[in-house]
Amino acid sequence: MGFDISPELQAKVDQVRAFVTEEIIPLEPQFLSRPFTELLPKVQELRGKVKKMGLFSPHMPADVGGAGMHFLQFARLSEEIGKTPMGLLCFNAQAPDAGNMELMYKHVTPEQRKKFLEPVVRGDIRSIFTMTEPDHAGSNPVVMSVTAKRDGDDYVINGTKWFSTGADGAGLAIAMCVTNPDAPPHQRASMLFVPLPAKGFKIVRNISVMGEPGHDYFTHCEVNYDDVRVPKENLLGGEGQGFLLAQDRLGPGRIHHCMRWIGICERALSLMIDRARTRKLGHDKVLGDMQSVQNWIAESRAEIDASRLLVLNAAEAIEKKGAQGSRIEISSIKFFVADVLMRVIDRAIQTHGAMGMTDDLILSWWYRHERGSRIYDGPDEVHKAVVAKALLKGHR
Ligand SMILES: Cc1cc2nc3c(=O)[nH]c(=O)nc-3n(C[C@H](O)[C@H](O)[C@H](O)COP(=O)(O)OP(=O)(O)OC[C@H]3O[C@@H](n4cnc5c(N)ncnc54)[C@H](O)[C@@H]3O)c2cc1C
Repeated sequence: MGFDISPELQAKVDQVRAFVTEEIIPLEPQFLSRPFTELLPKVQELRGKVKKMGLFSPHMPADVGGAGMHFLQFARLSEEIGKTPMGLLCFNAQAPDAGNMELMYKHVTPEQRKKFLEPVVRGDIRSIFTMTEPDHAGSNPVVMSVTAKRDGDDYVINGTKWFSTGADGAGLAIAMCVTNPDAPPHQRASMLFVPLPAKGFKIVRNISVMGEPGHDYFTHCEVNYDDVRVPKENLLGGEGQGFLLAQDRLGPGRIHHCMRWIGICERALSLMIDRARTRKLGHDKVLGDMQSVQNWIAESRAEIDASRLLVLNAAEAIEKKGAQGSRIEISSIKFFVADVLMRVIDRAIQTHGAMGMTDDLILSWWYRHERGSRIYDGPDEVHKAVVAKALLKGHR
């Protein structure tokens, strides 16, 4: 496996690491104690600086206004950018926009590209992805209640979605809707662009998640479409292609998530080590002298390194075989790295004792909000089933 980094990429990684350390991490105390909206002007300023660095929308090709990084290169940057919760937002590579941009790039018409894709890549607006519904299993979304019915030259959308990440303040929705109820199950849904705000589109609530309803980008909203009308030109891809497009969205996206999680793990481990070195247990002992703490440090180091190798292996598999041919590798990293993430954050909190529970440190925020990593983009159990079934069928 050739996982070497070129000197050019290493220089970019170093540049991003310095930016994250000097400019974004110092904002965490405010992020943890004040409504995020108060930080928006500062985030805008940082987004301006990232643009000047030539790294805004790093994963998008240059012809549409991105930094034109190959997804393996972006994977390396994701680890650095992921070390603080606002990192990806400052680089305009946050979920779900990053996946939305990639999806749009592959499937939009020239008009849609100008109208919907380019403003998101420029960072003028944020986009959301509204697929999951409260009343149906999101793990296998063949049954959905949200419909888009043709009426003349328009589609009229009705129904409720939830867990629409970032809906508060977003400028564009991609809505997954049933357009062909009589077609075979996987050809019933289509994706439609809904520019926001739209007549009939309502944010019902910022759902309180682990105690926080959140603000602006840091929200997961319940949203209602009530006779929302969009022209037929707002169809993304073909009618009935919703599931195909949804699958398309998820391959490289999982690499991005996993590398971000590895960044979180690295930061948590380094906090753990700092605390273990300095927290005195008595006159001549520190926490790091205790074997249980040493075990946590050593196990975390090995698990993070194993995770990175596994993710880079999956990225290389996507390169060689495409996302479809790399389903075992992609599903493996999704559940494996999410599990390592949970364990490393938990150990870091345990090492800090009561301090670990406070919002004086970023650990407790991750403990609450990264629990979702085992659920979104496919719960653990679904990915394990993908791997096991493929192996049982005799794939390598
Ligand atoms: C933080 C966060 C952000 C999200 N952002 C978005 C977003 O922006 N847009 C959007 O549309 N959705 C979003 N989601 C929703 C997410 O996609 C769904 O939660 C996910 O698809 C699971 O669907 P569900 O919640 O309906 O769980 P269900 O489908 O009801 O599954 C519940 C549980 O059942 C088990 N299970 C399910 N299927 C199987 C199986 N085949 N085998 C064994 N066990 C199984 C799993 O343990 C699973 O956790 C987000 C979710 C979270 C937590």
